[in-house]
Amino acid sequence: MKQEARRLLYFLLLAGLIGWLIDYPAWALAFGVLSYTTLHLRNIEKLYRWLRDNPDAEAPEANGIWEDIFNRIFKLRRDEQRARDSLLSIIERARNSVSALKEAVVLIDGRGNLEWWNPAAEKLLGLSTPADVGQPVTNLVRNPVFCRYFEHGPYDEPLLMPSETSPGHHLQFEITRFGGNDRLMIVDDVTRLQNLEQMRKDFVANVSHELRTPLTVLAGYLETFLGNAESLSPRWLRALQQMEAQTGRMNNLVNDLLLLSRLENENVHQEPQRINVNALLGQIRNEAIAVGLEKHHDITLECDATVSLMGLESNLRSAFSNLVTNAVKYTPAHGRIRIRWWADDKHAYFSVSDNGIGIDAHHIPRLTERFYRADAARSTATGGTGLGLAIVKHVLLQHHAHLDISSTPGKGSTFTCVFPAAIVVR
Ligand code: ADP
Repeated sequence: MKQEARRLLYFLLLAGLIGWLIDYPAWALAFGVLSYTTLHLRNIEKLYRWLRDNPDAEAPEANGIWEDIFNRIFKLRRDEQRARDSLLSIIERARNSVSALKEAVVLIDGRGNLEWWNPAAEKLLGLSTPADVGQPVTNLVRNPVFCRYFEHGPYDEPLLMPSETSPGHHLQFEITRFGGNDRLMIVDDVTRLQNLEQMRKDFVANVSHELRTPLTVLAGYLETFLGNAESLSPRWLRALQQMEAQTGRMNNLVNDLLLLSRLENENVHQEPQRINVNALLGQIRNEAIAVGLEKHHDITLECDATVSLMGLESNLRSAFSNLVTNAVKYTPAHGRIRIRWWADDKHAYFSVSDNGIGIDAHHIPRLTERFYRADAARSTATGGTGLGLAIVKHVLLQHHAHLDISSTPGKGSTFTCVFPAAIVVR
Protein backbone atom coordinates (compact mmCIF):
# COMPACT_ATOMS: atom_id res chain seq x y z
CA MET A 1 0.00 0.00 0.00
CA LYS A 2 2.88 2.33 0.91
CA GLN A 3 4.46 1.49 -2.42
CA GLU A 4 1.24 2.44 -4.21
CA ALA A 5 1.07 5.77 -2.30
CA ARG A 6 4.67 6.46 -3.32
CA ARG A 7 3.77 5.65 -6.94
CA LEU A 8 0.91 8.15 -6.80
CA LEU A 9 3.22 10.77 -5.31
CA TYR A 10 5.85 10.31 -8.06
CA PHE A 11 3.11 10.41 -10.68
CA LEU A 12 1.79 13.71 -9.34
CA LEU A 13 5.28 15.17 -8.95
CA LEU A 14 6.06 14.27 -12.57
CA ALA A 15 2.75 15.81 -13.76
CA GLY A 16 3.46 18.92 -11.65
CA LEU A 17 6.99 19.21 -13.09
CA ILE A 18 5.73 18.90 -16.69
CA GLY A 19 2.95 21.42 -15.90
CA TRP A 20 5.51 23.84 -14.46
CA LEU A 21 7.70 23.43 -17.56
CA ILE A 22 4.84 24.11 -19.98
CA ASP A 23 3.33 26.69 -17.66
CA TYR A 24 0.02 24.88 -17.03
CA PRO A 25 0.65 23.24 -13.67
CA ALA A 26 -3.07 22.91 -12.67
CA TRP A 27 -4.06 21.35 -16.00
CA ALA A 28 -1.10 19.00 -15.92
CA LEU A 29 -1.97 17.91 -12.35
CA ALA A 30 -5.64 17.34 -13.28
CA PHE A 31 -4.50 15.31 -16.27
CA GLY A 32 -2.19 13.28 -14.03
CA VAL A 33 -5.02 12.47 -11.54
CA LEU A 34 -7.33 11.52 -14.40
CA SER A 35 -4.73 9.16 -15.93
CA TYR A 36 -4.06 7.58 -12.56
CA THR A 37 -7.81 7.00 -11.95
CA THR A 38 -8.24 5.59 -15.46
CA LEU A 39 -5.44 3.12 -14.79
CA HIS A 40 -7.24 1.87 -11.66
CA LEU A 41 -10.60 1.77 -13.42
CA ARG A 42 -9.10 -0.42 -16.16
CA ASN A 43 -7.74 -2.81 -13.55
CA ILE A 44 -11.12 -2.91 -11.76
CA GLU A 45 -12.72 -3.77 -15.08
CA LYS A 46 -10.14 -6.54 -15.65
CA LEU A 47 -10.96 -7.91 -12.21
CA TYR A 48 -14.70 -7.77 -12.89
CA ARG A 49 -14.40 -9.50 -16.29
CA TRP A 50 -12.09 -12.16 -14.88
CA LEU A 51 -14.42 -13.05 -11.99
CA ARG A 52 -17.53 -12.86 -14.17
CA ASP A 53 -16.37 -14.67 -17.32
CA ASN A 54 -13.69 -17.14 -16.43
CA PRO A 55 -12.77 -17.29 -12.76
CA ASP A 56 -10.81 -20.54 -13.21
CA ALA A 57 -8.42 -18.95 -15.76
CA GLU A 58 -4.98 -17.56 -14.88
CA ALA A 59 -4.97 -14.10 -13.23
CA PRO A 60 -4.92 -11.14 -15.73
CA GLU A 61 -1.67 -9.24 -16.31
CA ALA A 62 -1.27 -6.12 -14.15
CA ASN A 63 1.28 -3.95 -12.43
CA GLY A 64 1.81 -2.63 -8.93
CA ILE A 65 -0.76 -3.32 -6.27
CA TRP A 66 -3.14 -4.86 -8.83
CA GLU A 67 -0.68 -7.61 -9.68
CA ASP A 68 -0.53 -8.46 -5.99
CA ILE A 69 -4.35 -8.37 -5.65
CA PHE A 70 -4.85 -10.62 -8.69
CA ASN A 71 -2.25 -13.12 -7.47
CA ARG A 72 -3.76 -13.30 -4.02
CA ILE A 73 -7.27 -13.83 -5.36
CA PHE A 74 -5.94 -16.51 -7.70
CA LYS A 75 -4.19 -18.32 -4.85
CA LEU A 76 -7.26 -18.16 -2.60
CA ARG A 77 -9.43 -19.61 -5.38
CA ARG A 78 -6.91 -22.36 -6.10
CA ASP A 79 -6.71 -23.36 -2.39
CA GLU A 80 -10.49 -23.35 -2.14
CA GLN A 81 -10.76 -25.49 -5.28
CA ARG A 82 -8.26 -28.00 -3.91
CA ALA A 83 -10.14 -28.23 -0.57
CA ARG A 84 -13.41 -28.72 -2.46
CA ASP A 85 -11.91 -31.41 -4.68
CA SER A 86 -10.51 -33.31 -1.73
CA LEU A 87 -13.86 -33.05 0.12
CA LEU A 88 -15.71 -34.26 -2.96
CA SER A 89 -13.37 -37.20 -3.32
CA ILE A 90 -13.91 -38.14 0.36
CA ILE A 91 -17.69 -37.94 -0.14
CA GLU A 92 -17.40 -39.99 -3.31
CA ARG A 93 -15.34 -42.66 -1.57
CA ALA A 94 -17.81 -42.77 1.35
CA ARG A 95 -20.69 -43.11 -1.12
CA ASN A 96 -18.91 -45.85 -3.03
CA SER A 97 -18.19 -47.83 0.10
CA VAL A 98 -21.78 -47.44 1.37
CA SER A 99 -23.02 -48.47 -2.07
CA ALA A 100 -20.92 -51.63 -1.88
CA LEU A 101 -22.54 -52.69 1.43
CA LYS A 102 -24.96 -55.61 1.36
CA GLU A 103 -27.02 -53.90 4.10
CA ALA A 104 -29.50 -51.28 2.95
CA VAL A 105 -28.51 -47.78 4.09
CA VAL A 106 -31.22 -45.11 3.87
CA LEU A 107 -30.97 -41.42 4.80
CA ILE A 108 -34.27 -39.92 5.94
CA ASP A 109 -34.83 -36.20 6.55
CA GLY A 110 -36.47 -34.56 9.57
CA ARG A 111 -39.95 -34.87 8.02
CA GLY A 112 -39.57 -38.62 7.48
CA ASN A 113 -38.96 -38.32 3.73
CA LEU A 114 -36.42 -40.40 1.81
CA GLU A 115 -33.29 -38.49 0.91
CA TRP A 116 -30.70 -40.97 -0.28
CA TRP A 117 -30.15 -44.76 -0.29
CA ASN A 118 -27.69 -47.33 -1.59
CA PRO A 119 -28.41 -50.03 -4.22
CA ALA A 120 -29.01 -52.68 -1.49
CA ALA A 121 -32.01 -50.60 -0.33
CA GLU A 122 -33.56 -50.95 -3.78
CA LYS A 123 -33.25 -54.73 -3.48
CA LEU A 124 -34.30 -55.17 0.15
CA LEU A 125 -37.01 -52.51 0.38
CA GLY A 126 -38.02 -52.15 -3.25
CA LEU A 127 -37.14 -48.42 -3.39
CA SER A 128 -36.76 -47.05 -6.90
CA THR A 129 -34.19 -44.39 -7.76
CA PRO A 130 -34.85 -41.50 -8.32
CA ALA A 131 -38.66 -41.79 -8.38
CA ASP A 132 -38.95 -42.29 -4.60
CA VAL A 133 -36.69 -39.42 -3.53
CA GLY A 134 -38.68 -37.12 -1.23
CA GLN A 135 -41.43 -39.72 -0.58
CA PRO A 136 -42.37 -40.46 3.05
CA VAL A 137 -40.65 -43.70 4.06
CA THR A 138 -43.91 -44.95 5.61
CA ASN A 139 -45.54 -44.78 2.16
CA LEU A 140 -43.05 -47.29 0.85
CA VAL A 141 -42.64 -49.57 3.87
CA ARG A 142 -46.29 -49.76 4.85
CA ASN A 143 -46.30 -52.44 7.54
CA PRO A 144 -48.07 -50.85 10.59
CA VAL A 145 -45.49 -52.38 12.94
CA PHE A 146 -42.74 -50.56 11.04
CA CYS A 147 -44.74 -47.31 10.92
CA ARG A 148 -45.23 -47.40 14.70
CA TYR A 149 -41.54 -48.16 15.25
CA PHE A 150 -40.46 -45.42 12.85
CA GLU A 151 -42.76 -42.75 14.30
CA HIS A 152 -42.43 -43.49 18.01
CA GLY A 153 -39.29 -45.62 18.53
CA PRO A 154 -37.63 -46.31 20.87
CA TYR A 155 -34.70 -47.17 18.65
CA ASP A 156 -32.59 -48.89 21.37
CA GLU A 157 -33.63 -52.30 20.04
CA PRO A 158 -33.74 -53.20 16.32
CA LEU A 159 -37.07 -54.15 14.75
CA LEU A 160 -37.44 -57.62 13.21
CA MET A 161 -40.07 -57.96 10.52
CA PRO A 162 -40.99 -60.19 7.58
CA SER A 163 -39.99 -58.66 4.26
CA GLU A 164 -42.81 -57.11 2.21
CA THR A 165 -40.99 -57.53 -1.09
CA SER A 166 -39.49 -61.04 -0.72
CA PRO A 167 -41.86 -63.49 0.98
CA GLY A 168 -40.13 -65.82 3.44
CA HIS A 169 -37.36 -63.32 4.18
CA HIS A 170 -36.85 -61.51 7.47
CA LEU A 171 -35.46 -58.01 7.79
CA GLN A 172 -33.87 -56.25 10.71
CA PHE A 173 -34.33 -52.46 10.89
CA GLU A 174 -32.01 -50.27 12.92
CA ILE A 175 -32.58 -46.52 13.11
CA THR A 176 -30.21 -43.88 14.48
CA ARG A 177 -30.95 -40.18 14.77
CA PHE A 178 -28.31 -37.69 13.70
CA GLY A 179 -28.00 -33.97 12.94
CA GLY A 180 -31.26 -32.25 13.90
CA ASN A 181 -34.00 -34.81 13.46
CA ASP A 182 -32.57 -36.71 10.49
CA ARG A 183 -32.48 -40.49 10.64
CA LEU A 184 -30.12 -43.12 9.31
CA MET A 185 -31.83 -46.46 8.73
CA ILE A 186 -29.84 -49.66 8.24
CA VAL A 187 -31.73 -52.74 7.08
CA ASP A 188 -30.23 -56.22 7.02
CA ASP A 189 -31.57 -59.51 5.67
CA VAL A 190 -31.44 -61.81 8.71
CA THR A 191 -33.36 -64.72 7.22
CA ARG A 192 -30.52 -67.22 7.77
CA LEU A 193 -30.05 -66.21 11.40
CA GLN A 194 -33.78 -66.21 11.95
CA ASN A 195 -34.09 -69.72 10.50
CA LEU A 196 -31.24 -70.97 12.69
CA GLU A 197 -32.86 -69.36 15.74
CA GLN A 198 -36.18 -71.03 14.87
CA MET A 199 -34.41 -74.38 14.46
CA ARG A 200 -32.84 -73.93 17.89
CA LYS A 201 -36.20 -73.09 19.45
CA ASP A 202 -37.90 -76.03 17.75
CA PHE A 203 -35.10 -78.39 18.79
CA VAL A 204 -35.31 -77.36 22.46
CA ALA A 205 -39.10 -77.55 22.40
CA ASN A 206 -39.11 -81.00 20.74
CA VAL A 207 -36.42 -82.48 22.98
CA SER A 208 -38.15 -81.18 26.10
CA HIS A 209 -41.45 -82.52 24.90
CA GLU A 210 -40.02 -85.94 24.03
CA LEU A 211 -38.32 -86.20 27.45
CA ARG A 212 -41.63 -85.79 29.25
CA THR A 213 -42.99 -89.28 28.65
CA PRO A 214 -39.89 -91.25 29.72
CA LEU A 215 -39.62 -89.03 32.78
CA THR A 216 -43.23 -89.63 33.73
CA VAL A 217 -42.71 -93.40 33.41
CA LEU A 218 -39.53 -93.26 35.52
CA ALA A 219 -41.19 -91.09 38.17
CA GLY A 220 -44.21 -93.42 38.25
CA TYR A 221 -42.12 -96.56 38.83
CA LEU A 222 -39.94 -94.81 41.42
CA GLU A 223 -43.04 -93.70 43.28
CA THR A 224 -44.36 -97.27 43.26
CA PHE A 225 -41.04 -98.67 44.53
CA LEU A 226 -40.76 -96.04 47.23
CA GLY A 227 -44.37 -96.69 48.21
CA ASN A 228 -43.14 -100.12 49.31
CA ALA A 229 -40.08 -98.74 51.11
CA GLU A 230 -40.36 -101.25 53.96
CA SER A 231 -39.60 -104.14 51.58
CA LEU A 232 -36.39 -102.47 50.31
CA SER A 233 -32.88 -102.85 51.69
CA PRO A 234 -31.43 -99.50 52.98
CA ARG A 235 -28.93 -99.44 50.09
CA TRP A 236 -31.67 -99.67 47.49
CA LEU A 237 -33.83 -97.24 49.40
CA ARG A 238 -31.10 -94.58 49.35
CA ALA A 239 -30.41 -95.15 45.64
CA LEU A 240 -34.08 -94.95 44.74
CA GLN A 241 -34.56 -91.79 46.81
CA GLN A 242 -31.66 -90.14 44.97
CA MET A 243 -33.12 -91.28 41.65
CA GLU A 244 -36.45 -89.76 42.62
CA ALA A 245 -34.79 -86.44 43.57
CA GLN A 246 -32.87 -86.31 40.28
CA THR A 247 -35.96 -87.27 38.27
CA GLY A 248 -37.76 -84.41 40.01
CA ARG A 249 -34.96 -82.03 38.99
CA MET A 250 -35.08 -83.21 35.41
CA ASN A 251 -38.81 -82.77 35.43
CA ASN A 252 -38.40 -79.17 36.65
CA LEU A 253 -35.82 -78.55 33.93
CA VAL A 254 -38.05 -79.94 31.21
CA ASN A 255 -41.02 -77.92 32.48
CA ASP A 256 -38.95 -74.71 32.58
CA LEU A 257 -37.55 -75.37 29.09
CA LEU A 258 -41.03 -75.99 27.73
CA LEU A 259 -42.32 -72.82 29.38
CA LEU A 260 -39.44 -70.81 27.89
CA SER A 261 -40.12 -72.28 24.43
CA ARG A 262 -43.79 -71.46 24.76
CA LEU A 263 -42.94 -67.90 25.82
CA GLU A 264 -40.65 -67.48 22.82
CA ASN A 265 -43.03 -68.95 20.28
CA GLU A 266 -46.67 -68.38 21.03
CA ASN A 267 -47.77 -65.87 23.54
CA VAL A 268 -47.36 -62.79 21.43
CA HIS A 269 -50.75 -63.53 19.92
CA GLN A 270 -52.64 -64.01 23.18
CA GLU A 271 -55.13 -61.43 24.39
CA PRO A 272 -54.21 -59.80 27.72
CA GLN A 273 -56.68 -60.25 30.58
CA ARG A 274 -57.35 -58.11 33.61
CA ILE A 275 -55.44 -59.75 36.46
CA ASN A 276 -56.41 -59.47 40.10
CA VAL A 277 -52.84 -59.10 41.34
CA ASN A 278 -53.93 -59.01 44.98
CA ALA A 279 -55.52 -62.47 44.78
CA LEU A 280 -52.65 -63.84 42.70
CA LEU A 281 -50.02 -62.68 45.19
CA GLY A 282 -52.05 -64.09 48.10
CA GLN A 283 -51.89 -67.54 46.46
CA ILE A 284 -48.18 -67.19 45.65
CA ARG A 285 -47.44 -66.22 49.26
CA ASN A 286 -49.31 -69.29 50.56
CA GLU A 287 -47.43 -71.55 48.15
CA ALA A 288 -44.12 -69.99 49.27
CA ILE A 289 -44.97 -70.65 52.91
CA ALA A 290 -45.77 -74.28 52.02
CA VAL A 291 -42.56 -74.73 50.00
CA GLY A 292 -40.27 -73.34 52.71
CA LEU A 293 -42.22 -74.71 55.66
CA GLU A 294 -39.24 -76.07 57.54
CA LYS A 295 -37.32 -72.77 57.16
CA HIS A 296 -39.92 -70.79 59.14
CA HIS A 297 -39.54 -67.64 57.04
CA ASP A 298 -41.44 -64.50 57.91
CA ILE A 299 -43.17 -63.83 54.58
CA THR A 300 -45.16 -60.57 54.40
CA LEU A 301 -47.35 -59.26 51.61
CA GLU A 302 -48.12 -55.56 51.12
CA CYS A 303 -50.41 -55.07 48.21
CA ASP A 304 -52.35 -52.12 46.83
CA ALA A 305 -55.53 -54.01 45.97
CA THR A 306 -56.82 -51.09 43.88
CA VAL A 307 -54.08 -51.65 41.30
CA SER A 308 -54.52 -54.41 38.73
CA LEU A 309 -52.72 -55.28 35.54
CA MET A 310 -53.65 -56.17 31.97
CA GLY A 311 -51.51 -59.17 31.02
CA LEU A 312 -51.15 -62.91 30.60
CA GLU A 313 -51.99 -64.35 33.99
CA SER A 314 -50.37 -67.77 33.79
CA ASN A 315 -47.07 -66.29 32.61
CA LEU A 316 -47.06 -63.57 35.23
CA ARG A 317 -47.86 -66.17 37.86
CA SER A 318 -44.75 -68.12 36.76
CA ALA A 319 -42.59 -64.98 36.86
CA PHE A 320 -43.79 -63.77 40.28
CA SER A 321 -43.69 -67.26 41.69
CA ASN A 322 -40.09 -67.77 40.44
CA LEU A 323 -38.96 -64.59 42.21
CA VAL A 324 -40.69 -65.53 45.47
CA THR A 325 -39.42 -69.13 45.28
CA ASN A 326 -35.87 -67.84 44.73
CA ALA A 327 -36.18 -65.66 47.83
CA VAL A 328 -37.28 -68.76 49.78
CA LYS A 329 -34.43 -70.84 48.31
CA TYR A 330 -31.67 -68.31 48.93
CA THR A 331 -32.75 -67.07 52.38
CA PRO A 332 -31.65 -69.07 55.42
CA ALA A 333 -34.12 -70.28 58.05
CA HIS A 334 -36.03 -67.61 60.01
CA GLY A 335 -35.19 -65.00 57.38
CA ARG A 336 -37.55 -62.23 56.27
CA ILE A 337 -39.18 -62.05 52.83
CA ARG A 338 -41.23 -59.04 51.81
CA ILE A 339 -43.55 -59.17 48.78
CA ARG A 340 -44.89 -55.79 47.60
CA TRP A 341 -47.21 -54.55 44.84
CA TRP A 342 -47.84 -50.81 44.31
CA ALA A 343 -48.04 -48.14 41.63
CA ASP A 344 -47.18 -44.49 41.06
CA ASP A 345 -48.04 -42.16 38.12
CA LYS A 346 -45.65 -43.80 35.71
CA HIS A 347 -45.30 -47.45 36.67
CA ALA A 348 -46.57 -50.38 38.72
CA TYR A 349 -44.06 -52.35 40.75
CA PHE A 350 -43.86 -55.91 42.01
CA SER A 351 -40.93 -56.45 44.33
CA VAL A 352 -39.55 -59.29 46.41
CA SER A 353 -36.98 -58.43 49.08
CA ASP A 354 -35.18 -60.90 51.27
CA ASN A 355 -32.42 -60.77 53.86
CA GLY A 356 -30.78 -63.89 52.46
CA ILE A 357 -27.34 -64.68 51.07
CA GLY A 358 -27.31 -61.86 48.46
CA ILE A 359 -25.41 -61.80 45.17
CA ASP A 360 -22.01 -60.37 44.23
CA ALA A 361 -22.39 -57.25 42.02
CA HIS A 362 -20.48 -58.78 39.08
CA HIS A 363 -23.05 -61.60 38.71
CA ILE A 364 -26.06 -59.29 38.54
CA PRO A 365 -25.93 -58.26 34.84
CA ARG A 366 -25.82 -61.93 33.78
CA LEU A 367 -28.40 -63.44 36.14
CA THR A 368 -31.20 -63.52 33.57
CA GLU A 369 -29.13 -65.57 31.10
CA ARG A 370 -30.20 -69.17 30.72
CA PHE A 371 -28.41 -71.56 33.10
CA TYR A 372 -26.41 -68.74 34.69
CA ARG A 373 -25.92 -69.25 38.40
CA ALA A 374 -24.11 -67.05 40.87
CA ASP A 375 -23.17 -70.10 42.89
CA ALA A 376 -23.66 -73.30 40.88
CA ALA A 377 -23.14 -75.66 43.82
CA ARG A 378 -25.64 -73.93 46.08
CA SER A 379 -28.14 -73.49 43.29
CA THR A 380 -28.06 -77.18 42.34
CA ALA A 381 -28.43 -78.10 46.00
CA THR A 382 -31.60 -76.00 46.20
CA GLY A 383 -33.01 -77.80 43.14
CA GLY A 384 -32.58 -74.77 40.88
CA THR A 385 -32.59 -75.15 37.10
CA GLY A 386 -30.87 -71.84 36.29
CA LEU A 387 -33.82 -70.96 34.08
CA GLY A 388 -36.05 -69.14 36.60
CA LEU A 389 -34.82 -65.59 35.95
CA ALA A 390 -34.66 -66.20 32.17
CA ILE A 391 -38.38 -67.01 32.38
CA VAL A 392 -38.99 -63.86 34.45
CA LYS A 393 -37.15 -61.77 31.85
CA HIS A 394 -39.18 -63.22 28.96
CA VAL A 395 -42.50 -62.72 30.70
CA LEU A 396 -41.58 -59.13 31.53
CA LEU A 397 -40.50 -58.47 27.93
CA GLN A 398 -43.91 -59.68 26.80
CA HIS A 399 -45.46 -57.06 29.07
CA HIS A 400 -43.01 -54.27 28.07
CA ALA A 401 -41.71 -54.38 31.62
CA HIS A 402 -38.22 -54.83 33.02
CA LEU A 403 -36.45 -56.32 36.02
CA ASP A 404 -34.32 -54.30 38.47
CA ILE A 405 -32.00 -56.26 40.74
CA SER A 406 -30.23 -54.82 43.76
CA SER A 407 -28.32 -56.97 46.18
CA THR A 408 -25.68 -56.91 48.89
CA PRO A 409 -23.82 -60.15 49.60
CA GLY A 410 -24.64 -61.42 53.07
CA LYS A 411 -27.42 -58.85 53.55
CA GLY A 412 -30.09 -59.72 50.99
CA SER A 413 -31.57 -58.93 47.60
CA THR A 414 -34.47 -57.06 46.06
CA PHE A 415 -35.91 -58.05 42.68
CA THR A 416 -38.33 -55.47 41.27
CA CYS A 417 -40.52 -55.90 38.17
CA VAL A 418 -41.36 -52.47 36.73
CA PHE A 419 -44.52 -52.35 34.56
CA PRO A 420 -45.45 -49.45 32.27
CA ALA A 421 -48.53 -47.36 33.19
CA ALA A 422 -50.15 -48.37 29.89
CA ILE A 423 -51.06 -51.83 31.22
CA VAL A 424 -51.95 -50.71 34.76
CA VAL A 425 -55.66 -50.58 35.65
CA ARG A 426 -57.07 -48.89 38.77
P1 ADP B 1 -32.00 -71.09 39.84
O1 ADP B 1 -32.95 -72.08 39.34
O2 ADP B 1 -30.57 -71.58 39.88
O3 ADP B 1 -32.44 -70.43 41.08
P2 ADP B 1 -32.56 -68.59 38.56
O4 ADP B 1 -32.49 -68.19 37.16
O5 ADP B 1 -33.89 -68.51 39.24
O6 ADP B 1 -31.95 -70.02 38.65
O7 ADP B 1 -31.54 -67.68 39.35
C1 ADP B 1 -30.24 -67.53 38.86
C2 ADP B 1 -29.23 -67.36 39.98
O8 ADP B 1 -29.48 -66.11 40.63
C3 ADP B 1 -29.38 -68.39 41.06
O9 ADP B 1 -28.61 -69.51 40.74
C4 ADP B 1 -28.84 -67.68 42.28
O10 ADP B 1 -27.44 -67.80 42.33
C5 ADP B 1 -29.17 -66.22 42.02
N1 ADP B 1 -30.36 -65.77 42.76
C6 ADP B 1 -31.61 -65.66 42.30
N2 ADP B 1 -32.44 -65.17 43.23
C7 ADP B 1 -31.69 -64.96 44.33
C8 ADP B 1 -31.96 -64.44 45.65
N3 ADP B 1 -33.18 -64.05 46.02
N4 ADP B 1 -30.93 -64.36 46.50
C9 ADP B 1 -29.68 -64.73 46.15
N5 ADP B 1 -29.35 -65.24 44.92
C10 ADP B 1 -30.35 -65.34 44.03
